[in-house]
Amino acid sequence: MNEDNKMNRRKAIGGLGMGIAALAASPVFGSTGNTTGGSALQLSLEDPTTKYPRPPFKEQSQPWPGLAGKMEPRPDHGETSYKGSGRLAGRKALITGGDSGMGRAAAIAYAREGADVAINYLPDEEADAKEVIDLIKKAGRKAVAIPGDLRDEAFCRKLVEEAVKQLGGLDILVNNAARQQTHKSILDISNEQFDWTMKTNIYAPFWLTKAALPHLKPGSSIISTTSEQANDPSAELFDYAQTKAANTSFVRSLAKQLGPKGIRVNGVAPGPIWTPLQVSGGATMEKLKGFGGDTPLGRPGQPVELASIYVQLAASDASYANGQVYGAMGGGGQP
Ligand code: NAD
Ligand code: MG
Repeated sequence: MNEDNKMNRRKAIGGLGMGIAALAASPVFGSTGNTTGGSALQLSLEDPTTKYPRPPFKEQSQPWPGLAGKMEPRPDHGETSYKGSGRLAGRKALITGGDSGMGRAAAIAYAREGADVAINYLPDEEADAKEVIDLIKKAGRKAVAIPGDLRDEAFCRKLVEEAVKQLGGLDILVNNAARQQTHKSILDISNEQFDWTMKTNIYAPFWLTKAALPHLKPGSSIISTTSEQANDPSAELFDYAQTKAANTSFVRSLAKQLGPKGIRVNGVAPGPIWTPLQVSGGATMEKLKGFGGDTPLGRPGQPVELASIYVQLAASDASYANGQVYGAMGGGGQP
């Protein structure tokens, strides 16, 4: 072995040792079953095409808004796998739609990274929300549950005030909740349905952000969940896709407005992800059975696969990420 190689080997082993030490210390941030043995598994390569379930999926449908706990297979939000390393220690986050899907994955990850977390959801989703609250508490962090309907401006203001009060401040706002229902034709979309989608997906983030802004100090972060639908809309998601284009514009405009104040605004644009939204009217049965099969990875994403993106965008080491939209689409679409 020449000197260079010896050096590299020593560095690699040294690095590994540090990695193991960090991992061994990380149960402080609430990960489950974290052992040195686990780190060997963590370092092994995982084939993304076979890592999670592939279509065909079983036919299934739930009344809106749907529960993750009743999906087959159950989505993976990182309940047993996400390991924190203190990246958000001491931060205070409010996440809408934090009971399931991307919101739940973000809530679990934020708590294990050391943040206190408030989640909003609909009263019908109490069963899902309870699981998330328990997981946040298990991570040793403060968990705040604030159910309510975001289509109501007064509630949006109250939600932010309550989160600020119970968390003792706010420095991360994740605008993630959304309404998505398929309609074959524009003629099938009633004014009431159109308004419902607009209120949930466009007005609520507007109201929440206005209410949150006076509390956000430099270094705070606003994150919106947008979609590949913003740039590549499906025929049957006519109203929803327009709201996702609006969410992307929200990010790009507000980032310019708030950048000078030291508040970063970024977006996450998922492709097909296995969540209750899709089994409660968000996808046709045909699409659901083959869900994600047409992406280069040949399967839908699981919410946990986006968790680290929400963490990254909130963390202060991503301090030059502003006005960006990070995609997670399995190889299709554009953020
Ligand atoms: P999800 O059903 O798990 O989450 C959506 C949440 O929105 C629900 O849990 C519910 O709590 C909340 N919500 C809806 N209407 C509400 C209202 N009126 N008041 C309060 N809360 C309300 O599904 P998800 O897929 O994780 O959705 C999260 C985000 O991801 C959404 O913004 C969605 O547009 C986006 N997205 C999802 C996909 C996908 O394939 N699942 C793809 C692209 C973008
Ligand atoms: Mg839900």
